[in-house]
Amino acid sequence: MVAPFPTCTLPATDWNAVAMMSGLVLALPDAVLVVDMEGVVLGANPAAEELFGVTIDERVGVPCFDLIHSGDLEMALVSLTSMGEHEIGSPIEIRVKAADGWRLVEVLGAQFSDEDIDAGIILAIRDLTDRRKYEIAQGDEAVFRALMQNAVGLTVLIDPQGTIETTSVAITRALGYDPPKVVGTEFGGLVLDADRGAFEGALARCIAPTTEGEVSIEVRLMSRDGTSEAPYQLVLVDLVNDPSVGGVVVTGHEISELRAAREELARLAYFDGLTGLPNRAALITELESRLRPARGERRETIVAFLDLDRFKPVNDLFGHAAGDELLTALGRRLEGCLRATDYVSRFGGDEFVVLADPTGDEPLSGLVARLENAVAEPFSLSVGTVQVYASIGVATANSGDDLDFVMAEADAAMYAEKHRRRGVESGRSRPMGERRALAESIDRAFDDEEFELWYQPIVDLGSGRITSFESLIRWRHPERGLLSPAAFLDIVEDLSRDDDLAEFVLASAVRDMAVVRDAIGRDMAFAVNASASQFTDPQFATLVRDTIAAAGIETRWLTVEVSERSILERPASGPSITSSAGLAALAATGVRIAVDDFGTGYSSLSHLVSFPIDSIKVDRSFVSRMTIDRHCMSVVSALVGLAMSMDIDIVAEGIETPDQLNVLIELGCHKGQGFLMSRPVPLQQALELIETTGGQL
Ligand code: C2E
Ligand code: CA
Ligand code: CA
Repeated sequence: MVAPFPTCTLPATDWNAVAMMSGLVLALPDAVLVVDMEGVVLGANPAAEELFGVTIDERVGVPCFDLIHSGDLEMALVSLTSMGEHEIGSPIEIRVKAADGWRLVEVLGAQFSDEDIDAGIILAIRDLTDRRKYEIAQGDEAVFRALMQNAVGLTVLIDPQGTIETTSVAITRALGYDPPKVVGTEFGGLVLDADRGAFEGALARCIAPTTEGEVSIEVRLMSRDGTSEAPYQLVLVDLVNDPSVGGVVVTGHEISELRAAREELARLAYFDGLTGLPNRAALITELESRLRPARGERRETIVAFLDLDRFKPVNDLFGHAAGDELLTALGRRLEGCLRATDYVSRFGGDEFVVLADPTGDEPLSGLVARLENAVAEPFSLSVGTVQVYASIGVATANSGDDLDFVMAEADAAMYAEKHRRRGVESGRSRPMGERRALAESIDRAFDDEEFELWYQPIVDLGSGRITSFESLIRWRHPERGLLSPAAFLDIVEDLSRDDDLAEFVLASAVRDMAVVRDAIGRDMAFAVNASASQFTDPQFATLVRDTIAAAGIETRWLTVEVSERSILERPASGPSITSSAGLAALAATGVRIAVDDFGTGYSSLSHLVSFPIDSIKVDRSFVSRMTIDRHCMSVVSALVGLAMSMDIDIVAEGIETPDQLNVLIELGCHKGQGFLMSRPVPLQQALELIETTGGQL
């Protein structure tokens, strides 16, 4: 509070106008006005002239009331008139019109009498405005500091040089410092050496006149005992010019958890949840960077594509948990057999991709041998010991090569290797005697027409309407009963009878198309499956065209399904053409082309657009797991989007439950097939399906 004027009663004789204007009054820093009992100004000292911005001559003879704020006038008058003779009244605070605007002043009046002017009042006026501002600021600063010290978070007030002026007590909990002991020390002293420069830079930026006055940085702060550090986000706010603060306020938040969460997110995006290895996305990023030419240098990278054989039986026989166990163990083994510059990732399912730098001391086959050895040792799982094998395909890439091309090459090499192994493989999986017996009866099967086509309807998922039938081959074996394609297709291929089989399939399917057309009075779309060796045979397109023309059916009613992997497969030796030439020749006949088992191979959009494709069929493995595995769900959803953007049809395979059906419809997939709607059935039953249901399943 401002010191009040001393209150006392003076002898009347000590006061008169002359005495009032004595040297003392003239020199007073307070303004002094002398008025008569009506308030008319009689005199003023220089401080009053300065305060009111007037000269004495201008004011003398004029009432003083216009100088007083109307809101305070009444109080001023009451105070003046109630003043007793020879008395000094109580000080009042009023607003007066000063030279620079309204100012708060304290006025103390004293009556006096004089022989010339009878009686008058001498008014001492003290300007309070600046002082009051200061007082308010003092109060605010006290409030500010109290708030700051008790802040729950780390809050520190530093001066522009970085010296701590006040700190919240939270500094004890956070870093172990005693607040009184850090006051006066450098804030930089709390920051880890390596980050101190960053902090100082931030402080300089914060108080620089050109900035917004707020800077945020992440630094590590050191605990008092120097044993631990923690990441903090600091926000520095420049309040140097704010009278209630007068410094830079630093607030800090511990961000260990935030960091951990960020790292976890990055890990999730780039790592495979099961094996902990980098995932497909991470591999692509890594390969891209290895293929990017650095300063014109050529760098060679070996891409090894590893796919397990006999993994599916492990899953089927022992369950997914066992399969997961095996993949995890394999991931560890692969990591263990690699050299420092090698890179291993889980590409998906039972596929792994290894990147390696070629080195002088190890031929390419050395890498393959290392990987094969990692797989060869039987795996002891909780369900027992199992043995799997690997097909490994290798491609060598150079800086500047196209990533998709390199991957497709490695994948194709792997697939060729798988084929090469298949003879060995099937010998292993099936007793030799059985395999031989089947092989020996193939000739008879063709001669006696033991093969037959069964049909599975493909329906419009929304309405249930049958849109087409996919033909699936069966072997009605006289001793073994009805065999499914998995039991004999590889044998047919190994005996090079696939051309004969393709011819049979086409002829039967087209004949059945005509039967259906005649029965229902309109054309019905059909699909046949073709293996890689079939559609890369230059004669195949001709065979298709001629067969269908002979039946008087338009080619557009027939779809040829080729698997995604077979498109990427290298053509086997012999009179074959590339898969893209094969597909182009097929498309030229007017038949439709569907990519089968889509999602299991490595196809990028760029691959697809270069082929004349009418539809893709989402592999059953995704559909069957989509309601329990979010990853599968997102793959299907992405494929639906891909198909839409390419304006091609999409068909979901293997729909077994109403849940799967509903999710597919929701995702915008309009066509599908599966046991839920109908299993594959012989032609006669397929016809009944159309007739009894009116084509509506
Ligand atoms: P694909 O082309 O993917 O045929 C679909 C397979 O999934 C068929 O097995 C079908 O019976 C089965 N399937 C359909 N819906 C469901 C379902 O809801 N649940 C389950 N678990 N399975 C379902 P299939 O008939 O044993 O044929 C196996 C594969 O053999 C075919 O797979 C195809 O790649 C090949 N194939 C079949 N017929 C021929 C043919 O005439 N020529 C050639 N080259 N390959 C053929
Ligand atoms: Ca198919
Ligand atoms: Ca399929």
